[in-house]
Formats: sequence, structure tokens, C-alpha cells
Amino acid sequence: MIARVAFPIAVPGLYDYHVPAGFRQYMAPGIPVRVPLRNRVVWGVVVSLAQRSEFPDLKDIVEVKTTHWTDTDRSLIRLYEWMAGYYHCGLGRIFRPLVRKGVVDMHPKTKTVFMSTGAAFDAGLTKKQAEAAMRLRSIDTPKTKDQLREQFGVSGHMVSALVKKGVLSQSQEQVVRRPGEILQEAFEENVTLTAEQRCAVERIGAFLGKPSKPFLLYGITGSGKTHVYIELARACLQRGAGVIILVPEISLTPQTIQRFRGALGDVIAVVHSRMSDGERRDSMEELVSGRKRVAIGVRSVVLAPMENVGLIVVDEEHDHSYKQDDCDPRYHARDVAVMRGRYQNAVVVLGSATPSFESYYNALSGKYEMIKLRQRFGIAALPTVEIVDMNMEHRRGNWTILSAFLRRRMEDTLAGGRQIILLLNRRGFSVTLICKNCGTTYTCPNCSVHLVYHRVDSLLKCHQCGYSEPAPTVCPTCRGEQIKYAGTGIQKAEEYLREAFPAARIMRMDQDSTRGKGRHVSILGAFARHEADILLGTQMVAKGLNFPGVKLVGVLQADIGLHFPDFRASEKTFQLLTQVAGRAGRKDNLGEVVVQTYMPREPGIVAAQRHDFEGFYEKEIDARRTLGYPPFGKLVRIIVLGEAETVVRGYARSVSQAIEKAGKGHLTVLGPAPSVLARINKVYRYSMLIKSQSPTVLQSVMQRVHRGTQSLPSGVKLIIDVDPLDML
Ligand code: ADP
Ligand code: ZN
Repeated sequence: MIARVAFPIAVPGLYDYHVPAGFRQYMAPGIPVRVPLRNRVVWGVVVSLAQRSEFPDLKDIVEVKTTHWTDTDRSLIRLYEWMAGYYHCGLGRIFRPLVRKGVVDMHPKTKTVFMSTGAAFDAGLTKKQAEAAMRLRSIDTPKTKDQLREQFGVSGHMVSALVKKGVLSQSQEQVVRRPGEILQEAFEENVTLTAEQRCAVERIGAFLGKPSKPFLLYGITGSGKTHVYIELARACLQRGAGVIILVPEISLTPQTIQRFRGALGDVIAVVHSRMSDGERRDSMEELVSGRKRVAIGVRSVVLAPMENVGLIVVDEEHDHSYKQDDCDPRYHARDVAVMRGRYQNAVVVLGSATPSFESYYNALSGKYEMIKLRQRFGIAALPTVEIVDMNMEHRRGNWTILSAFLRRRMEDTLAGGRQIILLLNRRGFSVTLICKNCGTTYTCPNCSVHLVYHRVDSLLKCHQCGYSEPAPTVCPTCRGEQIKYAGTGIQKAEEYLREAFPAARIMRMDQDSTRGKGRHVSILGAFARHEADILLGTQMVAKGLNFPGVKLVGVLQADIGLHFPDFRASEKTFQLLTQVAGRAGRKDNLGEVVVQTYMPREPGIVAAQRHDFEGFYEKEIDARRTLGYPPFGKLVRIIVLGEAETVVRGYARSVSQAIEKAGKGHLTVLGPAPSVLARINKVYRYSMLIKSQSPTVLQSVMQRVHRGTQSLPSGVKLIIDVDPLDML
């Protein structure tokens, strides 16, 4: 028997190995095996089995991991193969999370437990032992030593003695490691579905177990999409099939998990990015073994090795965190979910209040089926949105971060005992420092970006590579002492708010204030309990939380992000504004939103004010059509990286010429040019964007580029990003 093995490390191809007789019974696609490769012994994954190999002198498999993945079924391997082909990366890379060092080397954690044997014990026991044995007769489930001491008053010593005498039996029980920060109480809601929600559940539910198109559940914020997911999951479990739920960022959506737990009970395994290897291993095992039937997690959970999956939900399907763009495979979990649904015959539901243009287009064209939820639960109205033109504000002499209008709305809200969320999507204290005298600014020595001033620790930090240096008090160029802050970051806004509203309790939530494990949950929890009046945050505060006490949402500067050279800039702004506006006014109170901007007529901002997704889509989609951008044309981005700029540039040019030649007439190459982030961590980045109306031509040209990466000039790396979202 021959096993074909893929590797997660940088060897792209498949390698054949001989399977020793003793291992044959365990062999199946998806099984991790340890094999000799070059002069090391490494973990890989069996992809397929064969009778013979074209290569002579195969080496033997050394070790087999049989405790998990043993049942990865054929359809999943096909999904992984599709990903490797579509995203142009080695098959082994897809398996990487499954054979990552810690995960494959991890063992189940166990504890020793004791049970009464029920044996007659009159003979040979001391008086004390007999007494203890009497008390222990009533234990019904296996207990640890600690539990026996606490509940039955029997010492550890005594327990050991009773085991020797045959009164107690001793065994090992597995302890499942659960990620602590989301181990929260289940939260039960009293729910009767609205007519609209019931229609959605019935329509989609009718397709459980049948081949079907994916559904786009387009429901405004607060329309109860989560309840639709929950009822569908319930129906799916009743049919004996498993469920996968994708959420963008678990630490920001702890309520979602509580709600699922409350409704479905203890059938849920959670997978998220901050888990330890042990926790991850245990979650995976619970899913593979079928002890848990619902997997909730971030993007990688779409690859979870579960059999018989009947339902896959992608909540907030427009969210960019579903695209992995920092390492291979650079996949989009939403698109992989749709493919998985096809391979495994699962119903796929993509939910959003602000669908991505790609998904909405697919729904309009009939590739997906669209289901709409148009009503907010409880109070029917969406919040009112006011736009404030900050140019006018400056003309009136107000240079602070708060317009007169927003300030008044804040005062009224606080006076009424309600809460406020403020959004400023910019970390740090100020954008940078600038010398008033000579104009010197500070850029990162490794990257082509400004250093951001952080006042708390008095440092200039690079948000790209993490470099930091003490903030200067004297200008290094002219020795001048007048160094000023340029631009407002969230820390400066916080300082200003504390002065402007001395009586208000203010909390800040951004990457810097949420470093520790569980910090997100504690900040959000405290705000939900009304332990603060104002929550000031970056886009983190826009995600799916319900705060019944929030009446006012203020966006301090809505145009951050609109200046990036990215054709989705307006769409992203619209999504962010709509999501954050959705935090205002829930259940019984009407919400208000104030959006401050220097670009009051920008289409994304105006559409968000009118809650007009459809109108916004109609306008924007024409431009996309004209320019051949998605959803009309397909994009691939190629980035060439290296420390020697001339080599990088030269290679990028030759790649772009080769692509143009190979795809003549079927594609356009934009670039190569230095990326917006032209240098990160001392590495130069040249990128090009390839547009094509013909997916097949593009696919085959990219295959050639990918094959070419086997012989790159030394010191050069090449990245292929299919369906890129990141344009920087
Ligand atoms: P979405 O995910 O669409 O923004 P949610 O599912 O979070 O909406 O629902 C918004 C709020 O309305 C939640 O507090 C939810 O419990 C409540 N809600 C929605 N539908 C119902 C219902 N049928 N019965 C009771 N509460 C509901
Ligand atoms: Zn840097």
C-alpha cells in the first residue's frame, strides 16, 4: 500500500510513502503521518492511497496519528483540493491547521476519577474504612479526589486505601479544555418568531437535506437574523446533521455564542483564533467524534473536519476578516463555505445587513436565493442619521473633534441617563508628530509609513511592523522644541472627552486597550451593565452587540479610509457606518446617529444616512461594471517581495510581461508598481493587479505563475492573492 502525503511546510508537491503492514488499518485520507523528508522526520497528511507508485525505493511511514481525523471523508478532501487549485497553494498548506506542531503532538488531558465498585466489603476493613465505604455507596457518577473530600468528607489517603481494598475503582476520564473567555453562561431568550422570520426559516428549512442554492439572508440590523440561524440549526440537528456557524470575531460577539447555547444546549464547540493548542485539539476532537454537533468559530472553522454537515451559516458575510490575507491559503471563508455546501450537500446561509456586492449580485442574478428581513424587531424604526459637515464647523471656528451639534446631542443623552457609542477608526494618540519649525515628520526605518504617536507610553510606534522608539522632545533635525501632534487618534479623543464631559464615565476600546486575554469581553460586559456612559472605540464597537441602553451613536470622522486607493473604499465606509448605526436604539428606544465628516456628499455616507443599501448598490455597481471590477471581472493580485529593490522590481516586471503574453486579449495587468505599503519590515513590495473577464484563462495563467515560484531569484518571494480584498 502506498500513501500520497502532503506537507504543510514549504514543499508544494505530493510525496509517496510505503505503508508498513501494521499501519494499514488506519490509513485514510486526512490522517496525519510522520515520515522522513529530506533529512528530517516531519508531519504530513495522507491525501490519497494507491496500489503502486511511479517512484522506486519508497520510504516507510514512521508514525500514524489515529486519535483524531480518522474519519475525514472524501468530500472534505475534495474541498481541500479545490482550495489548493483555486487559491494556487500547495495542498499541504490547507492541512496546516490540522497538523500544526502543537495540535498533532497534543494529547488528551485526563484526570483520575473514582467510583464505588459495589463489592461487599465487610471483611478486612478497619472501622473508619467501613464507615467511609458506607458513605461512598451513594456516589452515582465518577468523582475526583477533591470532590470526594468536599462532598463525602473522605480524605485522599482514605480513597487510596479503599481502592486497594476493592471498594472503589479508579479510572481516567478525559478533561476537555475549553477556551475560558467565551465560557459564559447560556442566555435564554423568550422568542416567538415574527411572521417574516418564520417565513425565512420555513423557506430555507425546506431545503435541509436537499441539494440547493446558497441563500443570502439580507436583513437589516436588529431584524433577528440570529433567531433565524438558531431555528435552522435546531431543525438541522433534529435531522441528525451537524451545523457550522461562522462569525467574524468571537471576542467581539460573545453574546452570539451565549444565545446559541441558550437555545440549543450543550452541543456547541467553539473555535477561535486565541485558543491554545490544547483547547483547539479538544474542540476538533469533539467535533470529529460527533460529541459536539455545532461548530461556532472564525474563518478556519469552515474547514472543520465534520461529517454530515447539514447547515453552514456565515454571519456578517461581508466582513473582511473572512478573507485570510497574511498567509497561504489566501482563502475567503464565505466562498469556501459555498463550495463546502456543494460538496457536502449542506444548506448555506449568508447573512448580512450590508451584503458584499459580490453576494448581492449573485442573489440578483439567481446564483443565490435572496431572503429579506425588512423589519426591526420591537420598535420598527431605524435610527435617524444626521450628517455634520466638519468643514463648516471649522469655518465657524470650532477646531475640536466634536461639532456643536454632536456635543448637544451627547449632553442631552447623558442628561437622560442613556448611553453613547463613539466611533473613531484610528489607533494611537495622533497620526504622527511634526516639528513646527522645520516640518520634520517621523517614518518607520523599516516601513514606508508614518510612526504613530502613543501618549500613554510616550512612544512612536509603527502599526505595520511593531517598531517603536521614544517620542522626541527636541527635533533631531533643527533642535527646535516645538513638536506638535498632527491628526487625531483615539487616545487624543479620549483625553478631550474626559475634559469636555468630566462627569461622564468613559471607556476606550481599541487594539491597545484590549491586549490581555478576555479584555474585550470585560469591556463590553461592563458597558452592557451600564458601568460607563460613553464607549469610545475603533471599528471593534461596530460589531454585533446589543446594548439596550444605547441611544446615541456618534461617528467622529467618517471619511477615514476613503482616501485609500481601493475601489471598495466607499462600500467599506457604508458597511461600517451602517453597522455602527445599528447599535443605536434597540427594542424600546429610538436611536440617533450623528456622522461627522469632511465629505458630506460621499455616496457611501449619504446612503448610510438613508439606510439605502439598494440605492447605493445601484449607483456603485455601474462604476464596477465599467471598470471590470468584481463582481463583473475577476481579480488576482500578485505581490513580489524582497530586500533588494532592483531585483524585486526586475522580477515583478518580468512576471507581469509573462502574464500579459500568456493571457493576451483576456486580461489586463495594472502595474507592477510599489505597493501603497511600499516597504514593510525592510522588505520592498511591488504589486500588480490582474483583471480578467475569463476565469478559466486567469486560472491557467496563474497556475503557470505558481509553478514558476519553484524557481524564484534568490531573496525574492511571490504571493498570489486570488479575489483580493487588501489593496495596500
Ligand atoms: P440581527 O442579528 O439581525 O441584527 P438580532 O438577532 O441580534 O438581530 O436581534 C436583535 C434583537 O431583537 C435581539 O435582542 C433579539 O433578541 C431581539 N429579537 C429579534 N427577534 C425576536 C423575536 N422574534 N422575539 C424576541 N426577541 C427578538
Ligand atoms: Zn515599521
